[in-house]
Amino acid sequence: MAKRLIAAAMVLLASVAPSSAQQPRLTNEQHEAAVQFVMGNVRHTMLHEIGHLLVDQLNLPVLGREEDAVDTMATVMMLETGTQADVIALQDTVDGWLYSEATRPTRGYVNADFYGAHSLDIQRSYAIACLMVGSDYDKHTQYATRISLPIDRQNSCAEDYRIAEQGWNTVLEPYRRVGAIDAAIDIQYRDSRGEYPDVEALLRQERVLEFYADWVAKNFVLPNPVRMTAENCGEVNAFYDLGTREVILCYEWVDFFYDLFVTEVMPVREHFALVRKLKLEKLGRPE
Ligand SMILES: [Zn+2]
Repeated sequence: MAKRLIAAAMVLLASVAPSSAQQPRLTNEQHEAAVQFVMGNVRHTMLHEIGHLLVDQLNLPVLGREEDAVDTMATVMMLETGTQADVIALQDTVDGWLYSEATRPTRGYVNADFYGAHSLDIQRSYAIACLMVGSDYDKHTQYATRISLPIDRQNSCAEDYRIAEQGWNTVLEPYRRVGAIDAAIDIQYRDSRGEYPDVEALLRQERVLEFYADWVAKNFVLPNPVRMTAENCGEVNAFYDLGTREVILCYEWVDFFYDLFVTEVMPVREHFALVRKLKLEKLGRPE
């Protein structure tokens, strides 16, 4: 197939996801929280698609399912930066897949969920969380426990991480760039046709395409220019296009995560923030 999908399950959800136009007005604080959540998920998505790009352009061997492998690469790369921003982005990605599983239509699973190229959303979520806690138990166990990853599984995740980190770094090592960047970078924001002007503006403002195009060009020697595009796709998705060799981020994908945050994630997070605040007040400790 010409394009590889990141998340076939998401396509099914597109018709039930409310558009942001129907959302209640958010406070500035809520909007900022939504943007952080969205961008966290987008960062992981970009690295997932870059994983497909590297596999294709560098003819990398893939042992096992490619969709799982590039999820792993994205996670390992973010853990290796060690920044607080990437840790939060990974937590948002884990939450993103968990909550997207929770919004699954009540029909339950169908065969396509099992024969599809991707693991189930909930499996993707726990796989990322496992690599997180496997990379640094003390740093991530509290979060992993909060999302109900059992301690005995957390304890075995160090081996999952060791294999993942060693595998990806071994196959990428020969292609690491040493010296100045000479790779061409081509970034395009195709007109959202008036459907997603806010999403287009957000992506331009956050410069996430620019950041990851630069990251790829800085780190790897590739046979082709680094091409990244944001556009209307007509579906909730993101791709690496094998024909044009570009990473495509759909405006619909970004919009989906904004809606997911507002309708599913934000109410739960605000509830627990309130519970924590009330408990602290009861104990006489200001938060
Ligand atoms: Zn994919």
